[in-house]
Amino acid sequence: MVDTLIIGGGSAGSVLAARLSEDPGHTVRLVEAGGNRYSAADFPPELSDSAALPVDDQAPWLWRYPVALTPDRPGRIVRGRGIGGSGSVNGCYFIRAAARDFAAWSRETGSTAWDFEAVLPYARSLENDADFGDYAGHSRTGPVPVRRIARPSRLVEEFAATCLDLGFGEVPDWNAMPGGPDTGVGPVPCTIGPPDAAGRHHRIGPALSYLLPALSRPNLTVRGDTLVTRLRFDGTRVVGADCVSGGQLETIRADRVVLCAGAIESAALLLRSGIGPADHLAALGIPLVTPAPVGQWVTDHPEIGIEYRHPAPAAGAVPLEYVLEFDDIEIRPYAVAFAPGVHRMGVTLMRPTSSGRLRLAAPDPLVPPLIEEGYLATGSDRARLRAAVGLAGKILDVMSAQWSGGTDEGAISDRWLYERLGTSQHLAGTCRMGGPDDPRAVVDEHCRVHGVEGVSVVDLSVVPVPLSRGPHATVVLLAERATADLR
Ligand SMILES: Cc1cc2nc3c(=O)[nH]c(=O)nc-3n(C[C@H](O)[C@H](O)[C@H](O)COP(=O)(O)OP(=O)(O)OC[C@H]3O[C@@H](n4cnc5c(N)ncnc54)[C@H](O)[C@@H]3O)c2cc1C
Repeated sequence: MVDTLIIGGGSAGSVLAARLSEDPGHTVRLVEAGGNRYSAADFPPELSDSAALPVDDQAPWLWRYPVALTPDRPGRIVRGRGIGGSGSVNGCYFIRAAARDFAAWSRETGSTAWDFEAVLPYARSLENDADFGDYAGHSRTGPVPVRRIARPSRLVEEFAATCLDLGFGEVPDWNAMPGGPDTGVGPVPCTIGPPDAAGRHHRIGPALSYLLPALSRPNLTVRGDTLVTRLRFDGTRVVGADCVSGGQLETIRADRVVLCAGAIESAALLLRSGIGPADHLAALGIPLVTPAPVGQWVTDHPEIGIEYRHPAPAAGAVPLEYVLEFDDIEIRPYAVAFAPGVHRMGVTLMRPTSSGRLRLAAPDPLVPPLIEEGYLATGSDRARLRAAVGLAGKILDVMSAQWSGGTDEGAISDRWLYERLGTSQHLAGTCRMGGPDDPRAVVDEHCRVHGVEGVSVVDLSVVPVPLSRGPHATVVLLAERATADLR
């Protein structure tokens, strides 16, 4: 029997395991479906190199899911598998959510628990910002190394200069306190180490910055290659979780279970355990523990990928060295190649009004869930993306890039958009946070699942609003903030 069983050793699980085990009197066990990693040397070179995109079809450290981006357009989502989770395969971009996102999030909970003022101390204390550590709202003493690429690649320099020429302002620090410039073009804060002599950096996700340094604690045990299949209850009180490890079935007993399996698998685990919409579970023959709207709302960042040719090489130190942001659009000049000789610019809607849902296809934990992203279902989402693609086209024209499209919004058809539609891999919200009377809420403002005792969800599943920025900085902050409630 352990005090806390953490399911999933990805971004949030790494933070939580390290923070909860700071109390030597509290026993913590973390179980992870993918492989264990004990030191930086256990991370393969593709995961260590911040310029790599380690998500190819053969990569063994990924979960892969078919999704419906729209009812007619299939797509694919990947997630990191193994200690470090998605934080060990991601693009290193680490921009905090905007103050208005936290205000909207807090409103959903009917409390002030997730206001910007309430979360700022956690945002500060988690980081060690090499560039702005001494500025207000920042710190130099936290576990997460943050730095910007000092000398961006030629392609990105040209992109940034073009944005300035087109009248956008400069944003030196995307993580600055509210009130400063937050619209325009600027360098992306990244979770990377200092450059080596060749200008290359190491990707440093939460496994390296939080979990691995805590492994020597006697009250923390970490097990890899252990797939949790369902939670076990005595009535509505959790008593542990069933798992499969080395072909053996086992029940791990725990006083409390925290799901950190990510927005897809945490939701799937709750559903398989009898926490979900009663009719959906009945149709699958899963006994109901408590009804809950798990998977009924899903949000993500739809991205239009524009391919182009340009004489400057795609030789970035990270996938995104700079971004342009305005309204609820992020334009991403990828600095690494997705295909030889072809560059890509991403045009992304950060606060879409369309949403999707997630359901189980079968009770079998090896069958992937059905994921509908629900992208571009509203005319307003399509109109905003179309306008943003027009602007991206202007930038490409000024950069003398070769691409097949037009800058005239009216000429960009829905079909043109759908053919280039992809995902940012930022799926969230399957176990929304909200008050006990909110029919859409699965967890309360302390991340505890409504209707049962002893179960919490601490990962991107619980975020109840679309975020204006990529989610990784928010996931780490969420886990830091949730630790305070779980201690
Ligand atoms: C390719 C890619 C690139 C990205 N790039 C960026 C970026 O640059 N910036 C940004 O802000 N965001 C980025 N993201 C998103 C961001 O990295 C994730 O949202 C974040 O890491 C999610 O953290 P998490 O803790 O919710 O889940 P994860 O980090 O995915 O962790 C979940 C863990 O749980 C384990 N697990 C799942 N099910 C079970 C089970 N049944 N039993 C045991 N263990 C289980 C998984 O193996 C995994 O290790 C990217 C995501 C991907 C996939």
